[in-house]
Amino acid sequence: MEFRKEMETSKILIGGKVDESIVEIRYDPLTLQTSRIVKKRIPLALGDFEEEIMNSKSSCPFCNERIEELAARDPEIMNGKLWKRGECIAFSNILPYSKYSLILRIADAHYLRLSEFKSFHFFDAFKLIQDYLRKLPTQKFYISIGMNYLKSAGSSVMHPHIQLVVSENSTDFFARLDWSAFEFMELNNRDFWSALVEKEKDGERYIGRTKKTDWLSAFAPKGFLHIIGIPEEREFAEMSDEQLSGFSEGIVKILKFYEIKGFNAFNFTFFCGDKLGNHFRTNFHIVARTPFSKYYWNDVFFSKLFHDESISFFTPEEYANELKSLW
Ligand SMILES: [Zn+2]
Repeated sequence: MEFRKEMETSKILIGGKVDESIVEIRYDPLTLQTSRIVKKRIPLALGDFEEEIMNSKSSCPFCNERIEELAARDPEIMNGKLWKRGECIAFSNILPYSKYSLILRIADAHYLRLSEFKSFHFFDAFKLIQDYLRKLPTQKFYISIGMNYLKSAGSSVMHPHIQLVVSENSTDFFARLDWSAFEFMELNNRDFWSALVEKEKDGERYIGRTKKTDWLSAFAPKGFLHIIGIPEEREFAEMSDEQLSGFSEGIVKILKFYEIKGFNAFNFTFFCGDKLGNHFRTNFHIVARTPFSKYYWNDVFFSKLFHDESISFFTPEEYANELKSLW
């Protein structure tokens, strides 16, 4: 496992003197995909968006007063019913991204500050996802669980919700992870993620542990404050309650940290290892997105869209250290 980085020094003339900036190009230790770390202050325009909250709430399809009427149903696996657990309600995505595509509305509240998310919001959704996965036909699927929160993270609906995407075909990056992990297993006789935890455990990117889960910053981040969660239990549908609460508690800690850092929006995803083979362990990734406000800036530009090159303005070793002190 190699942690390769290259440096480029850039000179700019500003205010009558020459300033040097370092750009770090880092190679992901598994996929070799590159990311750039650019030291820049981003405009954290945390403006008020009370108006947006009120406007979107008045017609929100996920609020309690409308959800029964508006939610699309799954006619096969869920027999046309909504599934509920605590505040969580599961139903079909009206815009499916795959053969089985669900929405899990995770909170009664239409809007939550990042520090207001509780571990039960995630835990209950994960339990319903497990119930759903266990009813699927016994074949190989690529399972991902994702969340976009607020418009600057790509979410069209403000109300906190998670998406489950179960597909017979992998996404582009999931395929890359799958074959890179297969190759790693062939060479090292163990799965990449457990090897990563062992290698990083005492290092400067290791953050800490929740039940059955290790947390570390990504060496080659795919976004702002990219943190990875690695479970002891490999397949999502088979995970114990202890494992699921380990994930839920870790997510809540990270969201609190994001709020402290001035963020309010985020994306996360699980790449689930279910039925993919011993080389693949479920792995979880979360990044903060440009704070949502009235005139927010979109942080996905040509670099990410066409080159698939992520740009981060934060150094993984530095934010791991900050979060560790709060963990
Ligand atoms: Zn709502």
